[in-house]
Amino acid sequence: MSDVFADLVGQDEAVVELRRAAAAAAAVLRAGAAALVAAGPASAAEPASTPGGVDPSTGMTHAWIFTGPPGSGRSVAARAFAAALQCVHGTGCGECPGCHTTMGGTHADVRMVVPEGLSIGVGEMRALVLRAASTPSGGRWQVVVIEDADRLTEAAGNALLKAIEEPPPRTVFLLCAPSTHPDDISVTIRSRCRVVPLRQPPATAVAEVLVRRDGIAPDVAQWAAAAAQGHVGRARRLARDPEARKRREAVLAVPRRLTGVGAAFDAASALIEAAEAEAEAAVTESDTTERAALETALGAGGTGRGAAGAMRGAAGQLKELEKRQKSRATRAQRDALDRALVDLAGFYRDALTMALRAPVAPVHTDTAALAGAGAQKWDAEGSLRRLEAVLACRAAIEANVKPRIAVEAMMLALWKG
Ligand SMILES: [Zn+2]
Repeated sequence: MSDVFADLVGQDEAVVELRRAAAAAAAVLRAGAAALVAAGPASAAEPASTPGGVDPSTGMTHAWIFTGPPGSGRSVAARAFAAALQCVHGTGCGECPGCHTTMGGTHADVRMVVPEGLSIGVGEMRALVLRAASTPSGGRWQVVVIEDADRLTEAAGNALLKAIEEPPPRTVFLLCAPSTHPDDISVTIRSRCRVVPLRQPPATAVAEVLVRRDGIAPDVAQWAAAAAQGHVGRARRLARDPEARKRREAVLAVPRRLTGVGAAFDAASALIEAAEAEAEAAVTESDTTERAALETALGAGGTGRGAAGAMRGAAGQLKELEKRQKSRATRAQRDALDRALVDLAGFYRDALTMALRAPVAPVHTDTAALAGAGAQKWDAEGSLRRLEAVLACRAAIEANVKPRIAVEAMMLALWKG
């Protein structure tokens, strides 16, 4: 039997905590129902549950932050917890309608906010907070899951903070962020939330879930889990998608192609263009569908009375859509580039551990021989410098340095050592 927490790979401690909280939440609902019965029908309109943020007596909390490295399962954990809150048994059984609809993304009282662009704006957040304050239609909880809460604009963060400071009695906010560092989440929001830290799942646990759930052959699963460095979604893509494997191979070919200045610039161009192509493939389809849907809704091409005024409004909406799509494309490019840089960092990390003769398994088993040769040539110091060059490139892009410039600087550093 598998319940809603089954896909949360290698996070035993977090699962124990979430199960306990879900049970506490169910107890709050039961107590509320009992209080209503005891008080008689006169007060039945009053919502009877714990006001305020944290109720220490129940272990239930109205605001949570799930932290952990990308791929550790932050949003998987948040969704599973949301399902457990909506579960008619209060356990996250995985069988009841509450569990099913939440996991399938169709529960009326569960909202998943997945930012497509570089940030979540204040307008979006205000609308969300307003809806979250309504009474849950299913009689349990209103749950709002905010993926990538680190992308909240300051104004959006403030709008959210107000809601978290005085949460409606039946509303639960679940935020996901890489860490609780002030760069990721404001100190004031953090102080109102309970934190569930997730760790990078071990490769064996990732491989196990690929075999069990996705039916992937054990040897492929093991290779993919190691190559993905604990990122469950990435491991699955590598195991299943030949294009993803090809892109990874191209990235890992970079170190042996760096034979001079010209080659370094060529390698930078190739890396940037590959990321652009990958991002474009990812967003083109949805862009076209969205635009067609909006044009249909606006009745584009219509004539007759009112059509001119309607067209002016339509132009504004189309512009708004284009802006959103552009922001999403930029994000997709950065994500694709970052995946490539993480792969590359793994290679130099392998060279470093080999130079140090550290008793750890390589990240990329298929380029281990190449990393070994690098370790001999560069020694530990040179391997470390190269690893640092890759990490500096990631940091620079995160700090809004133009990707091409950051990648060119990195390639030159990798070549020169
Ligand atoms: Zn259930």
